[in-house]
Amino acid sequence: MYFYIATSKSPHLVLWGFFYLESAKQFPLTGVTTIRNMKEQKISFSYEEYDSINELNSIDAQLLHKARATTKNAYAPYSHFNVGATALMQNGSFVNGTNQENASYPVGICAERVLLSSASSQFPGEAIDVIAISYYNENGASDKPISPCGICRQSLAEYEERQKQPIRLILGGMEGKIIIIPKASTLLPFGFGSEDLKKG
Ligand SMILES: [Zn+2]
Repeated sequence: MYFYIATSKSPHLVLWGFFYLESAKQFPLTGVTTIRNMKEQKISFSYEEYDSINELNSIDAQLLHKARATTKNAYAPYSHFNVGATALMQNGSFVNGTNQENASYPVGICAERVLLSSASSQFPGEAIDVIAISYYNENGASDKPISPCGICRQSLAEYEERQKQPIRLILGGMEGKIIIIPKASTLLPFGFGSEDLKKG
């Protein structure tokens, strides 16, 4: 308090210094802090990694080939980032999705959600076993896996919940490393879901 009185002619600073010191008495910044009942938790999941499509089994490789080919149907005149997704349904059917952009940017929709909407509309009640997601980047390389954005993770998680079985994800570009995630919803820890809306 004396510091502020001695060095400042401003009554506001003197007042501020006084409150600062009084607060410091009540809430000291130093000292022992006791944390009670804290339980450290951990979330982890396993995934598979492959150097190239040649290491995949024939069904997974076929699905990724289809996703790569589907990138040609993307409408991405703004990002020039063409995403293609292909699902293998439990009944053996294939469903495709591509990103569809719009001059009003927020109107655009990702390939994954186009695919989920299409699958649900064409094959209601039919589960999705696997989805392969690929991309062709007109402005750069397409040799690393990409994973779904946050909104798509939310959609995938609810789709899994609806069909009561996991959706495998095969992620890869036009070449290079491949990642396989056994259960899509593991990409969204602490995700919000239908259970959160239930009362009581
Ligand atoms: Zn997305």
